[in-house]
Amino acid sequence: MHIQIQCCGIVLLLVLFYFYVRQKRISLYTQKAFWGVFWATFVCVVFDVVSIIVIQHRYELSEPFAKFVAKTYLITLLTVAISALSYICVDIYTNVDVYKKEMKKYWALMILGAIGTYAVPLHYNYSADGTEVLYTFGPSVYVTYGVSLIFFVRVFYLMYKEKARMNPRRREAVCIWLAMWIGASQIQFMYTNLLIVGYAGAMGIMVLYLKLENPATNLDRKTGLFNSNALYQYAKELYAKEKDFPLLVIIFTNNAYKNVRLDKRAAIKMQIIEYLIKIPDVVTFKNAEDEYFVAFTDVEKAEERIGKIRERFQNSWDEDEESIVLPHWLYLPHANIVGKAEHLLYLVRYVRREEKEFSEKVFFNIGHETVDEMRREHEVERLILEALEQDRVEVFYQPIFSTAEQRITSAEALVRIRDSEGKIVPPGMFIEVAEETGLIMKLGGAVFEKVCRFIKKHPLECYGMQYIEVNLSVIQCGYEHLAQDYIRIMEKYGIASKNINLEITESASTNAKMTLMKNMEELMKYGVKFSLDDFGTGQSNLNYIVDMPVDIVKFDRTMTNSYFENGKAKYVMEAAIHMIHGMNLEIVSEGIETAEQYQTMKDLGISHIQGYYFSKPLPEDEFIAFLENNRVETNM
Ligand code: C2E
Ligand code: MG
Ligand code: MG
Repeated sequence: MHIQIQCCGIVLLLVLFYFYVRQKRISLYTQKAFWGVFWATFVCVVFDVVSIIVIQHRYELSEPFAKFVAKTYLITLLTVAISALSYICVDIYTNVDVYKKEMKKYWALMILGAIGTYAVPLHYNYSADGTEVLYTFGPSVYVTYGVSLIFFVRVFYLMYKEKARMNPRRREAVCIWLAMWIGASQIQFMYTNLLIVGYAGAMGIMVLYLKLENPATNLDRKTGLFNSNALYQYAKELYAKEKDFPLLVIIFTNNAYKNVRLDKRAAIKMQIIEYLIKIPDVVTFKNAEDEYFVAFTDVEKAEERIGKIRERFQNSWDEDEESIVLPHWLYLPHANIVGKAEHLLYLVRYVRREEKEFSEKVFFNIGHETVDEMRREHEVERLILEALEQDRVEVFYQPIFSTAEQRITSAEALVRIRDSEGKIVPPGMFIEVAEETGLIMKLGGAVFEKVCRFIKKHPLECYGMQYIEVNLSVIQCGYEHLAQDYIRIMEKYGIASKNINLEITESASTNAKMTLMKNMEELMKYGVKFSLDDFGTGQSNLNYIVDMPVDIVKFDRTMTNSYFENGKAKYVMEAAIHMIHGMNLEIVSEGIETAEQYQTMKDLGISHIQGYYFSKPLPEDEFIAFLENNRVETNM
């Protein structure tokens, strides 16, 4: 028996050990499990070598002792197998108690296996001349292999069954590692003098290290702080342990460095990072370029430390000048109220975007209320994302009646989401979140594409219709490539531009207004027309109509309703109608529910009526049926 290959394995593991311990590491359960695998493999390879040497010197030492060492080597094989199980269980059972309970079963089996291995005989297989031991065999070996096999089968079974709960990279790494072990043992089984199992095990550890466990993957290269990946793992583990921890988020917005000379900023940034690294009893992460998370490991001392940190920031970072840096502070005294690592990162994004106090206040204490709001928003965001992914975004159509032609001549496309249970969710529940999270871009695009597909399938002219009105969100209007994107979609489906009318609202900011105007120009050149939606809500401004190249003004339901309820509103609306007609624009009156309301609007000279009086917004097939009925009636 030779020991050269195993010695190479030992050297490989020692090199890896050197790299591993030299790097800054975060204390995570999964990393501890990797340590377990590492040591089990190391001890196994060392015992492989030791047992070979002892067997070779069994006459000088003693026969029972040689057998004892050889059997101990076999048991170290069992420890490798159980460490593999522990390594994947740590990923699957994030709850520590469940993990421990699961592992207890395996340890019991392992102890039984070890007792069995020691208790039954072990034999040597000799070379042809009978002088050299080639390998060991017999019941002791079979017991070890049998128990290891159970462990390995369990590993593969869990990896298959708990696929969804496992990190896919961990699955892949473990598969490669075990394939190396199993492949090597097969080769060794066929060529008994080729003792490569130990070396293959060491190589497998190298694979785990490179693919998954290299601590450098948890570090931010520029600052040496832990990165967002580490933050996520760290938070995930603390939530799994149901442990509370105070968390401080320091945000350096553009304004933070306004008191620091431009040429000094880079150096001061580094100084701040060094300061953050040195704070005791905390783990510091860099989540984004301007965002640092400080997790306090000593709950009792957290508030006192925060006081000190903030005090430091009141002083200059430069001796000669007043280089004071003014970050924003978000403080979450009880991070456990968030409940999930994903939510923790989302919460900070939410507060930065949503909370007005964020820009006004320097120190923002995050409480239950903010967390609850964030959670609601997160749920809606998920609803939209899933609907987009699973094609559960639907478009309903509400007919618009022309008073002059006495028939339906257009319709408004209104988005709906069908939730996972098949229930319809109205836009009031999700448009705002879609706008805040930017998902409106995808959602609006999906709606427009569906409308174009609908028109292609049901040419509007066949139903006596002229165009479909499609809502544009303020966010979409401020997107510089909107016109190109929409023209591309119309071309894709071969839709005539006169079939489309886009509804815009007044709420675009002045900045977005420039982009909106450019988009409108481009689309109008193509032949698309525009409506001004929501007229009569908020601070509607007649001047806006003068500025905007729209063809139609849509009176909001609140405006039409107040006409019937409030004496003064009548005069305002009549004046508006007069002016809008004077500008040669058409009007659509929304929210008309009764015959009386319809008659009044008609008498006022309003050209188009939209409302429940004619129909509620309808799904595609019902809308087509409605138009077909309508056609028959009008023909009669
Ligand atoms: P909107 O564009 O002003 O659409 C008119 C809303 O009034 C629709 O509500 C419609 O169902 C409702 N409505 C029409 N007639 C009546 C009536 O007689 N009585 C009553 N009670 N309501 C009536 P919906 O579909 O819930 O849409 C609400 C808002 O959501 C829309 O107001 C629009 O601002 C937005 N929205 C809908 N679809 C889209 C979309 O695809 N993109 C964007 N960005 N926003 C959309
Ligand atoms: Mg509309
Ligand atoms: Mg409207």
